[in-house]
Amino acid sequence: IKKVGVLTSGGDSPGMNAAIRSVVRTCAYHNVLCVGIYRGYQGMIEGDFIEMGARSVHNIINKGGTILKSARSKEFMTPEGRKKAYDHLVKAEVDALVVIGGDGSFTGAEVFNKEYGFPVMGIPGTIDNDIFGTSHTLGYDTALNTVVECIDKIRDTASSHNRLFFVEVMGRDAGHIALNAGIGGGAEEILIPEEDLGLERLLESLKKSKASGKSSSIVVIAEGDKIGKNVFELKDYVEANLPEYEIRVSVLGHMQRGGAPSCYDRVLASRLGVKAVESLLEGKSNLMVGMINDKVALTPLEQAIKGHTEIDRELLRVSDIMSI
Ligand code: ATP
Repeated sequence: IKKVGVLTSGGDSPGMNAAIRSVVRTCAYHNVLCVGIYRGYQGMIEGDFIEMGARSVHNIINKGGTILKSARSKEFMTPEGRKKAYDHLVKAEVDALVVIGGDGSFTGAEVFNKEYGFPVMGIPGTIDNDIFGTSHTLGYDTALNTVVECIDKIRDTASSHNRLFFVEVMGRDAGHIALNAGIGGGAEEILIPEEDLGLERLLESLKKSKASGKSSSIVVIAEGDKIGKNVFELKDYVEANLPEYEIRVSVLGHMQRGGAPSCYDRVLASRLGVKAVESLLEGKSNLMVGMINDKVALTPLEQAIKGHTEIDRELLRVSDIMSI
């Protein structure tokens, strides 16, 4: 392998730049050329490439987002689109690919590998932490810190006004952000898709907390929670049943995807980038690099896509105990 291409695809997450930097510098370290591909697979289809050397990635380890931009590409889902992408890679003499993204991006990489035998390596980049084969995805730790910071601020105003706050956090179909940031932020209740708390239990719990003398409370709700109501409907429902509560809703939204990556995410990105490039140079392909038991480990892309990361049930118990 003489030239490695790197791209970021799907939703962006803090730490993607640190991963790009790591891939580029590991290539330089091993005297392999590196090409950045703009806008994910769409840029690959259009041949939107840039040669990257060790110095081209200075001053980005601390930046959120991705300097290579990210995109979703419908065209890459067609054989014709992938053919165009392949032709551009051949023309640019790129002979291996590092894909930084989520499971959709990995599916694209796998399809491309099957079709053309092109060596591919995945780095998990999403704040949701919903990818099998790694305890942490890039950006997850930063997002947790962002959410906890927001909850702290909401707590100030909640306690000043004796209010109940419903805070909706990201995570798609996974409750990792809600559960961990909820515990870290001292939430009264945490609603996650993996566990159906039930409306009755929520009401009971809020009643109990009022009776125990709590004057303000924070409930953290994962966006994918399956309680059967969106956060605003839930507010109306609880207010109708517990008129003693005045509820405010705060949907944290895209701020969770931005910001300077945490130290953990920077170190993670650096480690995963090194392993991704070195694995390609060793002739490995079709794998994702991730962290398992605090060690960098490889998982077949297929498993990373199809596997499911369970939430830690012990955390639910801890949360229960903390809200006594
Ligand atoms: P996020 O977790 O933030 O959503 P993601 O990587 O899962 O990130 P997707 O939009 O699902 O984001 O996928 C990114 C891109 O991967 C798609 O826009 C498409 O170009 C490519 N892709 C996804 N699925 C396939 C597929 N079955 N075949 C080919 N390409 C695909």
